[in-house]
Amino acid sequence: MRPAFRRQLLQWYARHARELPWRSRPTPYRVWVSEIMLQQTRVEAVRGHFARFMKRFPSLRALAAAELEAVLQAWSGLGYYRRARMLHAAARQIVAQHGGRFPRERYAALELPGIGPYSVGAILSIAFDQPEPIVDGNVERVFSRLAAIAQDVKGKAGREAIWQLAREHVEKGHTEGHSPSALNQALMELGAIVCLPAAPDCAGCPVHKHCAARKAGQEREFPVLPARARPKQKRLRFIAPRDENGRVLLVRRPEGDGSSLLPAGLWELPQLEEADKLGMVKRGKPVTRSHSIMNYRLQLAARNAAPQGTIEETTNRKWHTAEQARQAAMSSATRKLLEALGVL
Ligand code: SF4
Repeated sequence: MRPAFRRQLLQWYARHARELPWRSRPTPYRVWVSEIMLQQTRVEAVRGHFARFMKRFPSLRALAAAELEAVLQAWSGLGYYRRARMLHAAARQIVAQHGGRFPRERYAALELPGIGPYSVGAILSIAFDQPEPIVDGNVERVFSRLAAIAQDVKGKAGREAIWQLAREHVEKGHTEGHSPSALNQALMELGAIVCLPAAPDCAGCPVHKHCAARKAGQEREFPVLPARARPKQKRLRFIAPRDENGRVLLVRRPEGDGSSLLPAGLWELPQLEEADKLGMVKRGKPVTRSHSIMNYRLQLAARNAAPQGTIEETTNRKWHTAEQARQAAMSSATRKLLEALGVL
């Protein structure tokens, strides 16, 4: 892309960038947390979570000092809990090995749990203004259209072509005197609010003169994507044991227990198969909800149940009042069921 492309893009960004909580004070810690939250999650869903998370863990050291349970609880509702575990582990590693400061060197940042080429590019460019490229879904779509990339953008050749363009963009822009942080964020912003997946606003696009797909009238033909695999269907059935005080019994599978598609380590309802072992009598009709998780479409069902005897509480099996359940670290699938059952 020519220098005029970068100039026009940056002028547009200076006028139209959205106000986002993590943009106001882009410290490495805030940029890092926001980037991890934004993976696979919409900006609107992240806004509130980010503010609450920052209030609870205002610094990297505060995050490192927290218990994992508290971090998972603050992450509740964002999904993909592996990200929260990695974030917590990385914070501890940064305190132990880097004196509590996020490393500025690419190789050192890449050694941290949960930090890949995308996150490292985002953090080093946005927080440290280093000329490191970023390729997220927005950048991928924008470049695939600007350069009319004919290859599948998820395949090796397509990916390389996009990374090459992203690298050139930030490196050339940097030598022209532009800020790497603004160069990368402007591209992502263009993808997020103008060059939209189904309906790109080419007439209002600040760089339409540079766009090969637009010139050919084919902006909707790009990016070229692989045929999408249909999500697999799976049924999960639970019981919602209630005691005479209206409390609900929740259980927690240990880390690494992959017996369910729901994330281990979070509070969830006992599976239906547990009913007999727990001495439960099922009550009423099941409530049902659907839920998407990774490449699965889950059909969830849960029935109220009443204990026949005393249930011993353990670290991973506890009665929860409505308020305790509201505060507990749980996946949004469990939350949906508890709402449907009227517990929350
Ligand atoms: S002209 Fe259209 S397709 Fe090209 S970058 Fe702009 S919004 Fe996207």
